[in-house]
Amino acid sequence: MHVQTVTGPIGLDQLGRTLMHEHLFIAFPGAEFDPSAMFDRAAFVTEAVRRLKQLRIEHGVRTFVDPCPIELGRDVALMREIAEKSEMHVVCTTGFYFEEMGLPVYWRARTVEEIAGLYIREITYGIGKTGIKAGAIKVATGAPAITGLEHKFLEAACLAQHATGVPIITHTQDGCAGPEQQAAFAKGGVPAHRCLIGHCCGNADPAYHRRVVDGGSYIGFDRIGLLRFQPDEIRADNLVRLAQSGHRAQIMMSQDRHCGWLGKYARQIGPQEQARIDRLRTEGQWPPHYTYLFTDFIPMLKARGLPEAEIYSILDDNPRRFFAGEPLPPARGH
Ligand SMILES: [Zn+2]
Repeated sequence: MHVQTVTGPIGLDQLGRTLMHEHLFIAFPGAEFDPSAMFDRAAFVTEAVRRLKQLRIEHGVRTFVDPCPIELGRDVALMREIAEKSEMHVVCTTGFYFEEMGLPVYWRARTVEEIAGLYIREITYGIGKTGIKAGAIKVATGAPAITGLEHKFLEAACLAQHATGVPIITHTQDGCAGPEQQAAFAKGGVPAHRCLIGHCCGNADPAYHRRVVDGGSYIGFDRIGLLRFQPDEIRADNLVRLAQSGHRAQIMMSQDRHCGWLGKYARQIGPQEQARIDRLRTEGQWPPHYTYLFTDFIPMLKARGLPEAEIYSILDDNPRRFFAGEPLPPARGH
């Protein structure tokens, strides 16, 4: 039993403390045509290595999962270089983004079997000619509901999951369609505990989280620090509520941050936001650091009464059990 990283397979016992949903580099399709889009690859590698080393040395993180969709500038050779230099295990994924912001026309026209064929090849043989294998499958759906096209890619992910045994990590939009994703995975025969339903912390309603954990999946509180989508006070309240109601073993904590991208943002930035970004950049705080989870969010959990051992169990035990495919322990209420 092993997990594929961009530098080769590792044993489950080597995973250690894991952030399940972060990114190194992203590029939205089309950014490569922007003449103003400059990317200094060597400088980026230096900075990314510095940040991953800091995570590893100061906070004990051993594995960094980067579920970058194929068409969002996924660059696995870049990931490998950074993993080697930082001595961090980096796991990449196969799978496309959601319809509104991705899904290349060429692949929209393919059959479920053709899409699954690509995913299976990337998991078992490697990505392109790199020899680097994907360690999980990425599934993404939009809001307010899963589209017909997205269902096709979801079906392909189910076939690839069956063929390879690797787990599925999802993107949901605007904190919705998590239970709908679970229903589609169930229909495709994928056990719920092989799926991490991502970005559930974008929904403030505890009843939504309840539905996802009752469905037997892992639940992503994986946009910690993304205050544009949700204040962290609400994330912390909801996470502690879930843990105290016996669902600690299903929670995954991460931040969905990245430390490099190509060109401008995929949305227009207003002058006020731009000024804030420029100020943070001069202070060395932009892009935001991966260490925020440890320096800022974990203290919020402790302040709400979640014991340190339980907090670190979320980061240390849940990812290992998820990759191992072990069944969830029975939920224990307080
Ligand atoms: Zn992401």
